[in-house]
Amino acid sequence: MKFNSIKIKSLLLSSRFSILKWDKSIPTEIVSNCIACTNKLEPICALRSSSTTVRIGFCNKCGYVGYMDRPTKTWINNYYSLSWDKDFIRSKGMMKRDVVLPKGKIKGTRRSAFLATAELKVDKDRGVCDIGSGYGQVMKNFQMSGFKKIVGVETSQHRASLVNEVFGFDVIYGDFGSIKVEDTLKKYAPFGVMFCHHVFEHVYDPASVVSSMSKLQEEGDYAVFSVPNFLGEHINYVSLYLSHLHSFGKKSMEILFNRFNYELIEDKSNTETNLLLIFRKTTNLSVRLNHEHLSKDLILKRIRNGLGLEQYKNTNLHTLRWEQRAEGGDYALAIPLSFNKFVANLNWLVKQTISYFKSRVLHRATAYHILLVQPVYKNAEFPQEIWFDDEVFMLIK
Ligand SMILES: [Zn+2]
Repeated sequence: MKFNSIKIKSLLLSSRFSILKWDKSIPTEIVSNCIACTNKLEPICALRSSSTTVRIGFCNKCGYVGYMDRPTKTWINNYYSLSWDKDFIRSKGMMKRDVVLPKGKIKGTRRSAFLATAELKVDKDRGVCDIGSGYGQVMKNFQMSGFKKIVGVETSQHRASLVNEVFGFDVIYGDFGSIKVEDTLKKYAPFGVMFCHHVFEHVYDPASVVSSMSKLQEEGDYAVFSVPNFLGEHINYVSLYLSHLHSFGKKSMEILFNRFNYELIEDKSNTETNLLLIFRKTTNLSVRLNHEHLSKDLILKRIRNGLGLEQYKNTNLHTLRWEQRAEGGDYALAIPLSFNKFVANLNWLVKQTISYFKSRVLHRATAYHILLVQPVYKNAEFPQEIWFDDEVFMLIK
């Protein structure tokens, strides 16, 4: 039997993620054009329930992928301000431990981005701005390497105040790209470096970030940006992880930065899953744009693969385990539960209890995610659909 969709019944709590029910309380809006190049988006996949459709769009000009239906700006900003990360707040002791170079607990991609910036030989008297400064590790690393004027911008209230309290840095609480933040940053400008590590894919309006940056930097100043690489990001992250509003590849990033007179000077991406791009503000733009992007067919194949659609033999409930691997793409493993519905549900309940205990009580990290799914065949309206029984729900942090 051939299935073209799955119905997601439930998902297990895993470390670092919460579950967001997409109910009527969330105000939504439509995105029709590519965030990077403004070309018209085409829906490639949709998360669906009887009452809700959340479309994911694809730009066939630059390869950008992102939500076409999403919560409004106010909802997103409120979420980051008050709810983001609240289940996983770090202690002051952890924050201090986490800034020790070269290893410590610094995330590999963040360390690579910092080291790439250090190699640029920027005048250390010029300002550095960390866009989305989180728990302040990189700000502290910049200070340790001799930079004197360091400022952070952070939309999460608890993170902004913790960094100020623990390390003494100025952290502007707000949305980079807004007039208010731009005006406050003017007293620190011009910035020799704008640094942004795994934040850009979360922001409501990436173009406003680059536009605002261009007003705070001078010709020759650098922008170091690191984001997940769409080519290597698990397709279930792209579809189910709402926090990543955008999925960029090299081409979409370069087109977006070029629009505001930033040229790509170095591509330091060293894994399949992470982009690390260095841009420089210029008045004489030279454009590369020779990067490949995925075709629609290949994206659809990745979605099918990530949903395990080639693996189901019957309409039983299955667990679908998937994980982001450094290499190897959209790994997913479907395992059938018992034919007997009662036994299958009991089995799931036990799994839920264990995952709750592991992730929320023991705070054990898991690299994988598990969904309870049922394979289905549907007359589809969109190229690929993912169905939900009741309300659509998604991953969030
Ligand atoms: Zn585009």
